[in-house]
Amino acid sequence: MTGKVYLVGAGPGDPDLLTMKAHRLLLAADVVLYDRLVGEQIIAMIPETAEKLYVGKAKSLHSLPQDQINQLLASKAKEGKVVVRLKGGDPFIFGRGGEELEELVCEGVSFEVVPGVTAAAGCAAYAGIPLTHRDYAQSVRFLTGHLKDGTTDLPWDELVHPSQTLVIYMGLTGLESISQSLIRFGMRPSMPVAIVEKGTSIEQRVFTSTMKDVHQMALDNEVKSPALLIIGEVVALQDKLSWFGK
Ligand code: SAH
Repeated sequence: MTGKVYLVGAGPGDPDLLTMKAHRLLLAADVVLYDRLVGEQIIAMIPETAEKLYVGKAKSLHSLPQDQINQLLASKAKEGKVVVRLKGGDPFIFGRGGEELEELVCEGVSFEVVPGVTAAAGCAAYAGIPLTHRDYAQSVRFLTGHLKDGTTDLPWDELVHPSQTLVIYMGLTGLESISQSLIRFGMRPSMPVAIVEKGTSIEQRVFTSTMKDVHQMALDNEVKSPALLIIGEVVALQDKLSWFGK
């Protein structure tokens, strides 16, 4: 009998943000493969009886290449096991979830996908920044600041658009070039920007600045990954709406 792979989103850190389905599957798992971004308190929930495998990646230091992770998932399931593939945030948002499932399809292994609270939703909520607001933003875009080939090359002209919030994942390394490019394509230098570091965890730090000064601000405060950038007029509401840790 073949087992099954559950591709599960663990949310951005706070264990209370796990879905009930994610929690139930964690407790029932035979094997759990997890990433660097999965919160420690969530890892601690995995039962002693389950095999725990860390397959996370630090930037440019892949502890296990993606194709080997894909293979491992398939082989564990073929041993008849309940395999939970736990990923930070939501598995289908900048999580390579699609790539892992494609391999399972090739291998004839069955699977389910459990959505999670993505960093954009979690960090925005815990920072007190509504991503849309009838007065300030009618649309929101999720982008990655780090492309497969290591560059940051985004459709800048589309991003400089009134009433649009930008949420940039993995944007810390390329922050200086992101901010220069947006300004070059017409974003006003005083546009509010927030950086949320370790969002939703007890160590969360939120910094607000402007497009022009955000890079220096990040350096001055030694902002570290994981960090999310939120760009747009809605950031100005943070002052009034912040609640977490108060
Ligand atoms: N699948 C994940 C994203 C993985 S990409 C999701 O849906 O959230 C990794 C990037 O997500 C990080 O570089 C960072 O930009 C962002 N991120 C994830 N968790 C975060 C957190 N707790 N606080 C701030 N940013 C986070």
